Amino acid sequence: MNTDRKARWAVRQSALPTVVRPCPDCSGTRHRPSGRIRVNANGKLLDVWLLLSCAACDRTSKVPVHERVQVSSLKPARLVAYENNEPAVVRELTMSASLAAKNGYRLDWTGAWALETRTPLYALDDPAPLKVLVSFELPAPVRVERLLMLGLGISRTAVRRMVADGRVHLPLAPDAKAHQDFELTIDGPGSVDAAKHSKLLGAPADVRTGLSHVGLHDAPQQLSRLATAGA
Ligand SMILES: [Zn+2]
Repeated sequence: MNTDRKARWAVRQSALPTVVRPCPDCSGTRHRPSGRIRVNANGKLLDVWLLLSCAACDRTSKVPVHERVQVSSLKPARLVAYENNEPAVVRELTMSASLAAKNGYRLDWTGAWALETRTPLYALDDPAPLKVLVSFELPAPVRVERLLMLGLGISRTAVRRMVADGRVHLPLAPDAKAHQDFELTIDGPGSVDAAKHSKLLGAPADVRTGLSHVGLHDAPQQLSRLATAGA
């Protein structure tokens, strides 16, 4: 029995999260990074802000990143990155959960990610367990159940049935939100089912039913697809 079946699912970034906080000028709450960072020097002390734009009225607002810190406390490369509005640093600050917590705003990750899967197409038919490494390119919190739906291309009901049947081994609860890499294992459909499936795999495609539609073995073994992240 092949116990080395592995798949990789990656939560990829498709956009930056939206910063949700009240705008002082309008009733809007959604802000996007303006792409700029402001650095103010006062003697040996520095203030650094991330600049946001209100999505409704375009008003610029400031999020304090450093307040009155010694110039010497920042690495020179970091300071240069701030002064040059380096996109990687703008991205890092915009996604920072600790900066959001410190400044009392929420991050909305809707539309900020997509799941890319490389799952063998026979994944759910094979009696051998399938190990899935889920990796995160960004710290977007994603419900585990939703990852399973997107990754396996099955309904919420089907996911819940597999979990209830004990076929999915997870390091965290199905309704928990994951935001960093983890591994899960999916057991095959069981010895009885496995025998049935192995017979079916030799049968014409239209005889196969149920989950076996996921296992079109005449298609290429690897499927790479991008499932968009919904709300
Ligand atoms: Zn506004």
